[in-house]
Amino acid sequence: MEARQYTHTDGDTLQCGLCNHRCRILHGKTGICGVRRSIHGQLTAETYGRVSAEAIDPIEKKPLYHFLPGTLSYSLGSVGCNFSCTHCQNWHISHADLKFAHLQMISPEEGVKRAISQGCSSISWTYNEPTLWYEYTQDMGKIAHENQVKTIYVTNGYMTETALTDLAPYLDAWRVDIKAFTEEFYHSVCRAHLQPVLDTTLRAKELGLHIEVVNLLIPGLNDSPDETKKLVDWVIEDLGPETPVHFTRFHPDFHMQELMPTPVRTLERAYQIAKERGLKYPYLGNVSGHQYEHTWCPHCDNLLIGRSGYAVGPVHLNGDKCAHCGESTGIVTHL
Ligand code: SF4
Repeated sequence: MEARQYTHTDGDTLQCGLCNHRCRILHGKTGICGVRRSIHGQLTAETYGRVSAEAIDPIEKKPLYHFLPGTLSYSLGSVGCNFSCTHCQNWHISHADLKFAHLQMISPEEGVKRAISQGCSSISWTYNEPTLWYEYTQDMGKIAHENQVKTIYVTNGYMTETALTDLAPYLDAWRVDIKAFTEEFYHSVCRAHLQPVLDTTLRAKELGLHIEVVNLLIPGLNDSPDETKKLVDWVIEDLGPETPVHFTRFHPDFHMQELMPTPVRTLERAYQIAKERGLKYPYLGNVSGHQYEHTWCPHCDNLLIGRSGYAVGPVHLNGDKCAHCGESTGIVTHL
């Protein structure tokens, strides 16, 4: 499949414009992601339709708490990543060699059919970075929308603004990881940059996508109160105070096995900072049973949506409004 979002440059290189690495690629080579290859003057998307993981997930698992709560999301992933995070929890697929990976073919039409037959309200592209599946997700997104199925990216946010603008008519939700709020972390841990993630996420907001932010707190690397304040202030000012932010607990993985899991008190501190600065819907993640998994009304403090792990209920909403005080929440409850 020919890739989209690339240009020919002088000489025999192609320039990919899909993500902010903007790789220049010589004939026979791939970009940093390892799945977009230059072949005889054409960039190819090598993972089109090739699926490494398929599941029916609660939408809360993405996590998305303000988008069709309590529904199922047909979830698909492939292989490849444009980041090199040393703590990656899906490294077996994100850094798999395409030659050896066990992949099944699922066409865009078949994917939508399976989503509908399994009672899913949405399709999530997740597990590895969906940006690298751009052509496939765009094609499937068109068919999904024709069938009233919503679409979700669970992403590191490194897509270029131009690519996102072309994808946006077929995309409903942008669940983005803001992995830290320092350039140093992005450079040393992810081999990427912070600012493009912020710019593209702001573009997602302008394009009308539903946005939720995940900030995985890793002890000693990105969990200082000052950094949390900066992240929260950016969300409030650029995305709006109603934007859900999930502070999630780190568990040692991949090349970060020597670190401890995030202390719950660190997550609670982040929650308090967020509330004090005016964020309406902070959450804690990977701490099943904690009261800050629930949605509380920012106006009257009553329970709006109870959660335990991925289970939802009770729900005290009339449409998107608090059933107690009538506060509008912006929670998307209907297709
Ligand atoms: S998607 Fe990103 S990493 Fe992959 S080839 Fe394009 S610019 Fe490079």
